[in-house]
Amino acid sequence: MTRDPEDPGGSDAPSSFLTHPEHLFPRLTAHEISRLRCFGILRHWAAGEMMIKAGRSDVNMFVIVSGAVSMMSGDRLRGSHPVAELHAGNFTGEIGQLSGRHLALVDAVAIEPVDAIEMRPEQVRTLINAVPELGERILHALILRRIRAMEIGMGPVLIGHSQNQRLRELRGFLTRNAHPYSVLEMDTDREAQVIVDQFGMTTDELPVAICPNGTILRAPTDAQLAAALGFLSDLDTSCVYDVAIVGAGPAGLAAAVYAASEGLSVLVLECSAPGGQAGASAKIENYLGFPTGVTGQALAGRAYTQAIKFGAHIAIPVQATALHCAERPYSLETRGGTAVRARTIVIASGAIYRRPAIAGLDEFEGRGVYYWASPIEARMCVGADVAVVGGGNSAGQAIVYLASHAARVHVLIRKDNFETTMSRYLIDRIAGLANVVTHPRTEIECLEGDDGGLTSAVLTTPLDNGSARLDVRYVFLFTGAEPNTEWLRTCRVELNAQRFVLTGAAVPGSQPAAADATAVNLMTSVEGVFAIGDVRAGSTKRVAAAVGEGAAVVAQIHQLLASAGIDSSVIGLRA
Ligand SMILES: Cc1cc2nc3c(=O)[nH]c(=O)nc-3n(C[C@H](O)[C@H](O)[C@H](O)COP(=O)(O)OP(=O)(O)OC[C@H]3O[C@@H](n4cnc5c(N)ncnc54)[C@H](O)[C@@H]3O)c2cc1C
Repeated sequence: MTRDPEDPGGSDAPSSFLTHPEHLFPRLTAHEISRLRCFGILRHWAAGEMMIKAGRSDVNMFVIVSGAVSMMSGDRLRGSHPVAELHAGNFTGEIGQLSGRHLALVDAVAIEPVDAIEMRPEQVRTLINAVPELGERILHALILRRIRAMEIGMGPVLIGHSQNQRLRELRGFLTRNAHPYSVLEMDTDREAQVIVDQFGMTTDELPVAICPNGTILRAPTDAQLAAALGFLSDLDTSCVYDVAIVGAGPAGLAAAVYAASEGLSVLVLECSAPGGQAGASAKIENYLGFPTGVTGQALAGRAYTQAIKFGAHIAIPVQATALHCAERPYSLETRGGTAVRARTIVIASGAIYRRPAIAGLDEFEGRGVYYWASPIEARMCVGADVAVVGGGNSAGQAIVYLASHAARVHVLIRKDNFETTMSRYLIDRIAGLANVVTHPRTEIECLEGDDGGLTSAVLTTPLDNGSARLDVRYVFLFTGAEPNTEWLRTCRVELNAQRFVLTGAAVPGSQPAAADATAVNLMTSVEGVFAIGDVRAGSTKRVAAAVGEGAAVVAQIHQLLASAGIDSSVIGLRA
């Protein structure tokens, strides 16, 4: 059994802390229970009654007032086992509880007559925000339980061959979305073959996902898996949101946190997973407040939870395919055909890796060629020689990270050195790594391989040993990024020649910024449509800059809504 214990809430806490019953299952005092009575309703269960069934989506949180509840893993495939016993003052739930868009991971059965306060997800959010000292303890426990669920591999079971690209993509999708799961690999787990035979699955149907509610998905897409796990909910087409944000990278998540915390109704559409490019970063060391660095995923996990806590609706995986701004409220079309409406739009769709002109690239993407280096890729490279292409900061981070897994890291750069392209701290770090070899003025011309995937890269210039062939099974490309603006072709939002979005004084025909202007104007050529982060022409391509623009744009949205006479107190009303 292989597990991927990633960190959804961004906790750096050691495992013993995570598993400590006091933190995982805190007990509220009688006084605290009485304070939260008004946030839910008191209900009674007889001994033996099921309170929560694993795999159900309509799950509320229960604060136990009296009696005892047994929590079981709810694993229909390999047999259920006890997880915990809860008594007066304990409460059920995990972090998915906050959004209400998840399937229960456990069964809960009353083992004595039980009285408990039942709270719907929006009531839990209200409680967390209204009674912060109590809310903090509850939120902390919910995050730790998600981490624990990931550690022990609750949730869906993926079955497939370890080298299968779709299996790797599904693992990546669940990991980046901090959803617990476990994997049975056909190559090494005997149990995998037994299950495949038992359900009469054929090799073409692999990988399969067996969901907690018993649903079996054969070679599913990310969206099919998300829908079966309950975290892809239906979009509310009757609601006119104050703000619709496209993209849940650092910029979009920051805008969601600030907008939702200031009372605006917020919808975020994200086509992949929270965190964007930053989510792919093995370690961000220059973001304020994290002296020992933070993984992009941990940062994204925290920001996602924060946005949900304040009531933002984050739809994943949902891709915006077109923006229509001929009429107000504006309308966003999504893949699948649903359209959502909003008074203002924030373009936070960032950028995506550039695909250099290398012969054979298409053939080996996902079979030896990768555009990021997450723990999943790092595990494959243990003891192998790998190549990293690129001399920027993202390449630098990948070099440092991969060097601790691979036998040797070959770095291919066009320039003579990293001096003008990489931060000093990364240059110094790389200089201290004995297994990193840098090849200046070297590019890949074509890739070669066999049935198993990539075997070598043919270079434009021979290496010091005279060979123009690098025998590597793994090549990581960090060759810059292009803006995700394809979906803006249906509206009048002006782009520059490189297709980044123009804002403020950069928009043709706009007034130059006033001398006393205190903030960058983030409005595009269309009133009420804003752009922030990497997608914006002229922005600083850094996490902190994207987060800063996410905060700044909310002030500009408030100003616009106020000048249009829209009262923030009537926000989120249905049309
Ligand atoms: C490997 C790597 C390491 C990095 N390390 C650092 C670092 O250490 N420090 C630092 O300051 N910066 C770092 N950066 C840069 C930093 O990550 C970016 O500047 C930052 O992520 C930009 O944030 P953003 O929200 O503007 O865009 P992005 O992070 O690009 O996020 C955009 C989001 O929009 C989504 N999206 C795109 N199109 C659509 C659509 N049509 N519909 C729905 N969703 C859509 C994408 O899936 C993505 O999640 C790194 C970048 C990379 C690639």
